[in-house]
Amino acid sequence: LYDRRREYHIVILGAGGVGKSCLTSQFVHNEWIEYYDPTIEDVYRKVIDVDGRSCILEILDTAGTEQFSQEIYMKAGQGFLLVYSITSLSTLTELSDLRDQILRIKEANSVPLVIVGNKSDLEEDRAVRRDRAIMLSQKWGRVPFYETSARKRQNVDEVFLDLCRQMMRADVSG
Ligand code: GDP
Ligand code: MG
Repeated sequence: LYDRRREYHIVILGAGGVGKSCLTSQFVHNEWIEYYDPTIEDVYRKVIDVDGRSCILEILDTAGTEQFSQEIYMKAGQGFLLVYSITSLSTLTELSDLRDQILRIKEANSVPLVIVGNKSDLEEDRAVRRDRAIMLSQKWGRVPFYETSARKRQNVDEVFLDLCRQMMRADVSG
């Protein structure tokens, strides 16, 4: 029997400079790149195995575009990584607006989503305690939360895998 491979659209959102492009590069290419053009927005594809099922991921690395395109992305997205940096509290507080916007645009009470606190290797510059993100996660109905380091490639696969499992459970594949 032909088992159609599932295809999922992932959108990576968060303030500029939190490491969205670095996380994407580590996940898709296993590569650490120190500098990305902050204005570059692109789609990457990767096939991964999730619990024995092959999934095609289409990953949109956003770059703070205007409201209009953001709404189009959110509508098309099936799973979302909301990324902040553990070195900047404002990048975490900004996530609430993004989530509100996603839920409004998708007309849903919840969507597959992961809270990602990036730059965990910069412990000496930490400005956001883990509790802070855990509180947010609980407020949002126990949304999964991970701290990651794109630089050290820590927890990178885990966040994508968690998101894939959520999307599979929601059965959002088109
Ligand atoms: P974006 O604007 O969210 O796409 O952020 P980038 O991926 O371009 O990263 C912004 C800056 O943060 C770059 O200078 C990266 O080298 C740095 N950066 C990204 N991820 C990490 C990380 O996990 N650890 C450290 N130490 N720096 C990071
Ligand atoms: Mg970027």
